[in-house]
Amino acid sequence: MADNAASLSALVTGGAQGIGRAIALAFLKDDMNVLIADRDEDACTETAAALSQYGRIIGTICDVSVEEDVRKAVHSAIDRFGRIDVLVCNAGITGPAVPLEQLTLEQWRSVIDVNLTGTFLFAKHAAPYLRKTRGCIINIASTRALQSEPDTAAYTSSKGGIVALTHQLAVSLGPDVRVNCISPGWIETAEWQKHANRTTPVLPEQDHLQHPAGRVGTPEDVASLAAYLASPKAGFITGQNFVVDGGMTRKMIYVE
Ligand code: NAP
Repeated sequence: MADNAASLSALVTGGAQGIGRAIALAFLKDDMNVLIADRDEDACTETAAALSQYGRIIGTICDVSVEEDVRKAVHSAIDRFGRIDVLVCNAGITGPAVPLEQLTLEQWRSVIDVNLTGTFLFAKHAAPYLRKTRGCIINIASTRALQSEPDTAAYTSSKGGIVALTHQLAVSLGPDVRVNCISPGWIETAEWQKHANRTTPVLPEQDHLQHPAGRVGTPEDVASLAAYLASPKAGFITGQNFVVDGGMTRKMIYVE
């Protein structure tokens, strides 16, 4: 039986920790119901309890790369809230940083499965409900989709795939559903982890100052853009990738 069905509702994958947790909090503050779908059971329970003071939030254990888990998470949101207005595909893993010649097919597939296939699966299963509400999808890619460090083939490819999938879905699901993508740069998430893993990072000043914006990013930097993209103010924006990186991808770096 759906409750509070009049309120907008959002589903945030990987919403128990890090950037996803900040997005869940921003949506709650915008009076949305929120379902977080995350594979970390402790983090899911802890975050749902901690954020419940801001509004209606439930946690569902889900591996985004497993289609049956995805189907169940989408149905949980419908059973509980009656509708899905916003889907945020945020869950992601980096995988091992190993030279290409040592990267196993299994390692490659596990990163692609979580980051890219998980995004596809949630879009597929949520699409019928998003069409009904004329809702939106926000995918979380990375500036790695645009530039590289060595030994990150699987992660970089998965994020490039998400940017491409974003404009593809925008064209396939429009005009019913808007689909956009956020590509964060360096976002410090240590204070947004579950309690057992939470730390207060002390970053050297040079880490901040190398950014044209003068600082490393925070989960709130991404969450505030997600809240905007989810709002009617963004009604003419679809198929786009928005870089939130303090200007790093605009900075030319040559060793002198
Ligand atoms: P995070 O702090 O590690 O949080 C991600 C959450 O997603 C964790 O609770 C994680 O659980 C969960 N998760 C991972 N794999 C999952 C799966 N298969 N199914 C369901 N949940 C899963 O990550 P973050 O740094 O906030 O990153 C969030 C997104 O932003 C990712 O897509 C990442 O690639 C992207 N991003 C982050 C940065 C950055 O600097 N932080 C920069 C660019 C892009 P576990 O703890 O069990 O893994």
